[in-house]
Parts: sequence; structure tokens; C-alpha cells
Amino acid sequence: MAPPPYPAGEEELLDYEEADEDATAGEAAKEGVAVKKGYVGIHSSGFKDFLLKPELLRAIQDCGFEHPSEVQHECIPQAILGMDVICQAKSGMGKTAVFVISTLQQLEPVDGEVSVVVLCHTRELAYQICHEYERFTTYMKNVRVGNFFGGLPIKQQREQLKDKDKCPHVIVGTPGRVKGLADEKALDMSHIRHFVVDECDKCLENIDMRGDVQAIFKKTPHDKQVMMFSATLNAEIRPVCKKFMRDPMEIYVDDEAKLTLHGLVQHYVMLNEDQKNRKLNDLLDALDFNQVVIFVKSVARARELNRLLNECNFPSTTIHSAMRQEERLQVYKEFKEGAKRILVATDLVGRGIDIERVNIVINYDMPETDDKHGNGADTYLHRVGRAGRFGTKGLAITFVASPADSEVLNQVQERFDVDIKPLPEVIDASTYMNSA
Ligand code: ADP
Repeated sequence: MAPPPYPAGEEELLDYEEADEDATAGEAAKEGVAVKKGYVGIHSSGFKDFLLKPELLRAIQDCGFEHPSEVQHECIPQAILGMDVICQAKSGMGKTAVFVISTLQQLEPVDGEVSVVVLCHTRELAYQICHEYERFTTYMKNVRVGNFFGGLPIKQQREQLKDKDKCPHVIVGTPGRVKGLADEKALDMSHIRHFVVDECDKCLENIDMRGDVQAIFKKTPHDKQVMMFSATLNAEIRPVCKKFMRDPMEIYVDDEAKLTLHGLVQHYVMLNEDQKNRKLNDLLDALDFNQVVIFVKSVARARELNRLLNECNFPSTTIHSAMRQEERLQVYKEFKEGAKRILVATDLVGRGIDIERVNIVINYDMPETDDKHGNGADTYLHRVGRAGRFGTKGLAITFVASPADSEVLNQVQERFDVDIKPLPEVIDASTYMNSA
């Protein structure tokens, strides 16, 4: 398919380079809630068929999970037996619960010993996964979970690890901080029984992060379970992941068309750079949304766009890597709780982040393809997956303002076999809003 023509134009927002996300990461109202039971996949079995611990099953029920999704149905029976797993499945289909449930099912907590380590690429995702463990351990009073990532006081973390009665049995963190604590021996990795890497392609593609993951891995015992997950696992990264594993169960989505979220309506808008703000304003006025995430390509643009939206009285907030860690988490929590309805974000929250009420994603800037940002089409897939979680409806609108943007759009359409049409004048809200 030929790239669509594009109009040239002036930039309204300055295009500074995004601050290095990886470097900083290494450092330092129920309205409109999606109807979860709507997505059952082809399997009608229940979680009780997995013969889980009763306290775990009870927590799963409390979370409102009625039936396992396809990926849960496929992976959990093997994973709870301790098998290594490398798993690709589309966004929002419950990969987190696969490793949370299967590690908790196998966990026999011993005070003072860390048995499970989960690594992921951003602090916000680490925070979210930790919260997921907390939900599922509601009735496992003897299990402690800890969050370890940069930007939070390391002293307290050292103390927590030293104290037998406080030391977590499960730790969730970013590779930089976990490695730091392990190197200084504050964190003892010698009792690890389960080693999990979420968004594993992202963690292992980046050389620095890969080095940290490997260094942590080397400190763990030989005999353990290794599990890795992502919605995107290209042919080059699969062997890298498998080097960490022994005869894993491998689940890939080789037909990339199957990664397309069918509840998600996708459109593009062809425009000049200097028309973006006007268009965004109109869209935010016209569209029905519970919550919306607007992705931009740099920290400077995130700040500036958020300022403009606030000036126009839109309930907007922003998140990016140049913010202090406490502030970042605060914004994430407030948005998750629905205090703000618009989040202007960099790719910091492009992956993994699960916010139930987000039903619209706007790519104000199209993701880029280069050494620093990885593959633009992959990034697109992850970003739009923030809407339409767990088989619910959603809408993704992408601004196309250059030949490079058109190129990425075409790659998305070809690889994921999705027909992204121009945004119509009027769009029927029932196509992207879930009925309450
Ligand atoms: P992924 O990691 O595959 O992108 P998540 O693990 O973030 O997806 O899950 C997406 C959402 O679906 C989360 O809000 C999660 O609580 C919910 N969810 C997961 N499994 C189920 C289930 N079996 N039934 C209902 N909701 C589920």
C-alpha cells in the first residue's frame, strides 16, 4: 500500500529529544467501567478447574474474574507445575494474572527468604504488578510483596530486606534497582524459585537493561522456574529469551493479525503539524470518553501539550520520565482512580499499564522507528492496547503529519492486518463506548 500523501507544515510544539527513559528508569467512580465478564474467549472452564489454593481462588473471585482468558487457559495449567514459559499474547488479555496466579500457587513462604522476583521495564509497571500481587494475596496473610525500583529511598528498602519479619517473599522491580540491591548483598537472590520478566522484549532489547537482567539471573539458583511475557516477541528476541530457560512452553502469535484488538476502532487523521492542537481540541470536545491517553514523542511536548490543555480547561495531567518519582506515581494513581480524565504521556506508559476506564488513545505523535525507540509499529500496538482492555470496546486515533508517520501507519496495517480508515466527520459513540 502506498503511503498516503501528507501536507507539510510548521511545528507548533517544539520537538526536543525525549530524556533518556532507560537511563532514568535504571536510576534512580466506577462509571463506564468495562464489563469484564463480556470476554470469555472460546473457553468456558472456570478458575476452579485449575485446582488452586482456596485462598487464591477466593481472591480471584473477588477481582471479578469469572473465566480464564485464552492465554490464562493455555498457560496456567503448565505454569503452576513449575514449567518455564515464554508467552506472547495480545495486549490486555491478562498475562499479568498468569504469572501472579502461578507463582502464588506454588509459593511456600519462608520468612527472610525472597522466592519470587518479577522484573519489568518501568517503575509504574512495577508498581501496578505489585498491586496485582497485593490483590491476589488478600487471603494469604503470610505472604509479603515488595516493590523495588529506583527513585525511591534505598535505605528503607535495605532495612526492609534485612528484617526477617518484613522481608518480602515476592519482589517486583526494575532491573537497575534490583541489581543494585543484589550487588551490595542487601537482597539475597539465593532462594529465588521463580524468575519472571514482563515486557521481556523491551527489557532484553536494551543492552544496559539486558546486562542488569543477566546479572540478576546469575545470582539466582540454577533450579528455578523462568517465565517471560510480552505482546510483541520478534524472531530475533525469542532465542535471547530462551537462553534463560530450560525447555520452555512456547506460546507465540506468529500470525500478527491475531494481535489486533477487535473491540478497538482505529482511525487516522491526516494533518499538518500546526493543525494538531486545533484538531485535538475539537476531538476532546466531540468525543465521548471515560478517560483518554494522548501519546507524544518527547518530554518537552508532553509538558507543553498538557499546559495548553489545562489552559483550555481540559482536566488533563501528564506523565514522563523527567518528573520526580513520587510525582510520577502520584499522577499514575490519580489517573487510575479517575481524578483526571486526560493523560498526556510519553512512551513511559505505552506498555503494560492497565487503566480500566481508558477507552480512547490518541497518538498525537506517531511512534518512531529507530535504534532508540525500537519498532514504531510495535510501539503503536502497545500504545493503542491501553484502550480496549480485556476484550472491551475502545477507540484509537492517530495523527499523521509526515511521510515517516505514513510509513509507520502502513506497517501497522500490513503487519497486523487492520484497515485503519480516515476519521469520519461523525463517529457513533456506541462503536467505542462500553455499555455500563
Ligand atoms: P496484559 O498483561 O495481557 O496486557 P493485564 O494482565 O494487564 O493484560 O490484564 C488486563 C485487564 O484484564 C486487567 O484489568 C485485569 O485485571 C483484567 N483481567 C485479567 N484476567 C481476567 C479474567 N480472567 N477475567 C476478567 N478480567 C481479567
